[in-house]
Amino acid sequence: MAKASSTIRVTVWNEGRHEKTNKQIAKIYPAGIHGAIAKHLSAQRGIRARTATLDQPEHGLTDHVLTNTDVMTWWGHMAHHEVRDDIVEKVRQRVYEGMGLICLHSAHMSKIFTRLMGTICMLKWREAAEREILWVTKPGHPIVAGIDDHFILPKTEMYGEHFDIPEPDEQIFISSFDGGEVFRSGCTWQRGSGRIFYFRPGHETYPIYYDPNVLRVITNAVRWAAPRPMAKQTYGHRDVGWIGKRPRKSKK
Ligand code: ZN
Repeated sequence: MAKASSTIRVTVWNEGRHEKTNKQIAKIYPAGIHGAIAKHLSAQRGIRARTATLDQPEHGLTDHVLTNTDVMTWWGHMAHHEVRDDIVEKVRQRVYEGMGLICLHSAHMSKIFTRLMGTICMLKWREAAEREILWVTKPGHPIVAGIDDHFILPKTEMYGEHFDIPEPDEQIFISSFDGGEVFRSGCTWQRGSGRIFYFRPGHETYPIYYDPNVLRVITNAVRWAAPRPMAKQTYGHRDVGWIGKRPRKSKK
């Protein structure tokens, strides 16, 4: 198990394909979506961010990287199916052990998110450069520290309900869109000892990961999802011996 340290070690994972194949997206994110997020996070006090991408050996998620990650952020879209199942299982195990996981935008269909949720995670969408208003539904929660009662993204892809997720532990944001749809755009769950946050903003054709409110929420979520010091936990089915004094058998 990774040792809790005062610096939060973040691995910013990105599929990294749109940036390679689409000039317009490469112009918005010259260092990739992962580069933009990691640059911001690394500039925050007490956070150290590294990046990992699909096309690296083991998708950049070697055992060493996984063991030394406190919080992982995940962005994927066009190549979810290319992510190796054995690596997804390792990431899932790390979540059970206490690693935080922040799934961004189209990561709702990633293997890691759907396997942790256990549901289909489908939703409605429309690409029409609509205004999105993200309404805070959990004021006072650490993830919305420094955020007003709402913030606006002028041009976004629409995501609409029904979003096929299990009931969130906490509902942090609900979005509304020009077309009238609404969406649960910020949700938390716990799996094992790990905290999970799904955060909707982030379509690749808009400069969403430069928006100060979006970046603030991601930073807050990293701090919230970081593992707390805890006694050793074990996961999995196992036979255990009797703990303490064994009760006497009752006399016949
Ligand atoms: Zn999108």
